[in-house]
This record gives sequence, structure tokens and C-alpha cells, in this order.
Amino acid sequence: MRRAPCAAAALAVLLALGAGEAPAFEVNGRRWEPMPVLYFVNPAGCPVLPSGETILELAARAMQAWSDAPCAAVSFRLEGETGATWARDGQNTIFCVDRDWQFSPGAAGASLWLPGEPQEVDLALNAADLEWRLGGGDAFESTVVDPVAVLVHELGHWLGLSHTPDPYASMYYASLPLGLGATLAGDDLAGICTLYPNGAEMCRTDDDCPPDHACAELQGVRVCDELHDPPGSFCSRDHLDCDGMCWVSFFECRQVCLFTRVDYSAGYCAPLCPEGACPVGFHCEHVAQPEVDVCFLDEAEDGEDGEDGGDGEDGEDGEDGEDDGAGVEDPAEPGGCGCGTGAPGGGTCLAVGLLLARRRQGAGRRWSS
Ligand SMILES: [Zn+2]
Repeated sequence: MRRAPCAAAALAVLLALGAGEAPAFEVNGRRWEPMPVLYFVNPAGCPVLPSGETILELAARAMQAWSDAPCAAVSFRLEGETGATWARDGQNTIFCVDRDWQFSPGAAGASLWLPGEPQEVDLALNAADLEWRLGGGDAFESTVVDPVAVLVHELGHWLGLSHTPDPYASMYYASLPLGLGATLAGDDLAGICTLYPNGAEMCRTDDDCPPDHACAELQGVRVCDELHDPPGSFCSRDHLDCDGMCWVSFFECRQVCLFTRVDYSAGYCAPLCPEGACPVGFHCEHVAQPEVDVCFLDEAEDGEDGEDGGDGEDGEDGEDGEDDGAGVEDPAEPGGCGCGTGAPGGGTCLAVGLLLARRRQGAGRRWSS
């Protein structure tokens, strides 16, 4: 289902978390015993990617993401192809819907648990409304999804994980742009290693982890957790890696990308400042539309990166009338939800950032002091 007001959904998550608690994975009560999880694939109606990859290969890649978790004992085994879709037939089936998607509107996939015993699940993938592209779309391409990321997310549900508020986790409740959900975040690893521990520890120190990762204890599990960009770092529509990124709303997150170009090609990571406090070199400003307090760089000039040259350049203005203000990208935009039925969160409702550059031409509308 396309859950209407994104902010409401996110607020509910926030309340469920409780103040001060770190966002963390949750479980849905499902469990597979013994491994491997056996599955069938129905390739009818599934797009074949330009690379030639079929649903069989995409599913295998997504399963590999989970079975590669160093501290978990998880495996899958393809039993063969099938013509089945959604039915209690003794087969866990992955299938595609290429027209008339009937599950959660706007969702990219839905894990469908069949009532009764033994445990059986089918997975519907939305190839009717969404374009499949490896690596996903950029922040504003709301009808493009990375099929591997969708599969990783849904298989996480199969394995027993529910949604998490961690903004970079595969199990985040909205689908992420730029293919970000295709690899497991520390929170996903902590979840799967809690559900299916194999006795191994992923890391003792940062030296055991890849670059840009740190060894962290999350919910009692030591995992290599990805590091994200601090305040002031570069961001753009093609590069969004601000720590604590606000994807859906301004409630459960810490930073937005403050775009300094009208085409969203440049910006910087800017912390929210609900209490007014900002890092050194930033100051807190209230943005009236939407209502949010954001740390602006003291020195930042619009178009600071050069060629976009300040006031004269508003080549793109007028292309849409909504820009007198910090226009958060349309939060009602339909998009890919990596989630199945019953999930909070829903479609891609991107908060992502505020557009600073447009304020230049706003009549008398100057927020920087
Ligand atoms: Zn989901």
C-alpha cells in the first residue's frame, strides 16, 4: 500500500524508537530452519537488463549479499524454474508482475506469506510501474529502482527482518536511490547475524574492515559499519552519502543535502538543528517551507563551486513555478518502495534536501544573514 503521509509514518517510527535510542533492525518472527532456503524462479514477465542479466542472476546476486555476511549462516538454493506465481504450492517462488500490479501501490516488491504450515513465501516484483536499472536512479528518479536492491530488501523479510529506521540499511522502510540498498549496511549485518549466528565475529578492530568502514558493536554484534559523510561534505543528486541522511522526512534523521545549484549538481551536507546547535562554521536558520531548522555554512555562497556564477545564471528558473522557497522535492511522488505489504513508510518520499540556489532570485527572500 502506498502509505500516504510520509511524515506521519516516519513520526510513528520515531515514537516507536524512543528518544535517544539508536536506530536498529527489527525482526518479523520468521525463521528458516534448516538452511538452505529453497526457491523457484518464474522468469515470465521479468525484464532482462541491458547487461543481459536475467531475474535468475539478479536473484542470485541478492542472495549472495545475505549469504556473504561473515557472521551469519544463511544460504539459498535454486530449485528450478516454474510457471507458478502466488499460491500455496510448496514452492517459494520469485515472480514478476509486468502489468496491473495488484499489491502495495507504488511498491517495488512484495513478500507474500502463505497461510498455514510449513512456512512458505512468494515474492512479487513490480515490473509494471517501475524501471529496473542496476545502480538505481538518482535521488529524483522516483520510478527507477535497482532490482538487486529490491531483492535484497525482500529477501531480508524472508529471512526474518522487518524494517529499520537506519537510513542506509537495505531494510530501510523506503527504497533508496543510487542503488544504496543493494549492499548490506552494518544494521542489516547485525540483524542477520543475530538471527542466524554462525559463531564467527566479523571484526575486532577497524583494521579488519574495508576502507570507509569502522568496526562497531551494533545491538551486541560486532560488524563493519559503513562511514558516511560529515557536515560540509559535497553532495549532489548523484552523490548522496550524508551521515544520517533524511530520505523521507525530517523526523528521524540528522542531515539533508543543501543544494547550491538549481540542477542539484552540487551542494553540501547540512545538519538539522532542531535545538539550534550547529557545528563550528555553521549557523542555524529556520526554513519556513517546509518547517525545518538547518545548519547553513557561514561562508557558503550559492554556486560556490564556480562556474555557476551567481545571480546572473538562473538559466533554469521559470521552469517550474514552485521554487520560491526551499522546495523539498515533491514528497508525494510515487516511487519504488522496497517493501512488501504491511510496511510503514511506503513509496519514495524524498526529503533529501533543500534547494539553496533558487533562493537567490526569490524576491527579497534571503535567509542567509
Ligand atoms: Zn519492506
